[in-house]
Amino acid sequence: MKARTLAAALLLSACGLASAQDATKALGGLLRGVNPGGLLNNLTAPTPAAPAANTDELVKLLAQSVDSIDETREQEIGRQLAALLAGSKPLHPDLALQRYVNRLGRWISLQGSRPNLPWTFAVLDDPGFNAFAAPGGYVFVTKGLVDRVDEAELAGILAHEITHVNQRHHLKALAAKARAGLATQAIASQLRGNAANALSGQVLALGRNLYSSGLDQGDEFEADREGVALAARAGFDPYGLPSVLQQLRTAKPDNPLFALTLGTHPPAQQRLEQLEVAMGSRLDALSGKPSVPVAQRLQ
Ligand SMILES: [Zn+2]
Repeated sequence: MKARTLAAALLLSACGLASAQDATKALGGLLRGVNPGGLLNNLTAPTPAAPAANTDELVKLLAQSVDSIDETREQEIGRQLAALLAGSKPLHPDLALQRYVNRLGRWISLQGSRPNLPWTFAVLDDPGFNAFAAPGGYVFVTKGLVDRVDEAELAGILAHEITHVNQRHHLKALAAKARAGLATQAIASQLRGNAANALSGQVLALGRNLYSSGLDQGDEFEADREGVALAARAGFDPYGLPSVLQQLRTAKPDNPLFALTLGTHPPAQQRLEQLEVAMGSRLDALSGKPSVPVAQRLQ
């Protein structure tokens, strides 16, 4: 209970944000607030501006070994993929909601294995039920997801996405795709198109492919397992994520709001079964906490 109180206190603590008129500026402010280095200021307008390594080199390095990607390069790849994700849907204009999700996510990420990444959390203005992560500490959830979950469930989802980042799941998947030759195809198609954008085009082509096909099932099960433990360490009901999976289990696969999530993840029933094996009854004592709707937390 102590940890939960602390979590609540942190969530309510002030977070210095620049005031802004529109959502794009708002995210810029949000990002400046959480990234003193200013690395991410151009998130919504991706331009390959003097990165530590150019993306041509990044794709080559990826194809060789994930271990050759240091944290700076990982964040550069993540920044480009985050721009891709944020570019596909506008950011939700509710600044209080953005601040809340950002604070919740940052608190949970502090309990994980990579607390020092420049974590960034944002809500996309989309009615679908989706959550995405990108290397280096980027996590996005859709407004449609936030509207359908309570705080413990949202914490479980964020912890699942944070685990993908901590375990470098996307980076490993991109490396596999780069080795499989997708990068070569991307180069060819980019050379036919706009040569000036060819460099970031390679990483973006790999990313587009990855976010439409999804990660390995094993990575998803690992993110579920470790996400549950991470959410519990952060003081939240560990049954938050299982509760979301129960909701997903009853969603119709042809419901367009759920189609992407269902199409890019193992069946919810399988995920629940895997979690049951991993969790057993060890976490039972922690369940049954009162549910806190997101709207109530925002009041
Ligand atoms: Zn996942």
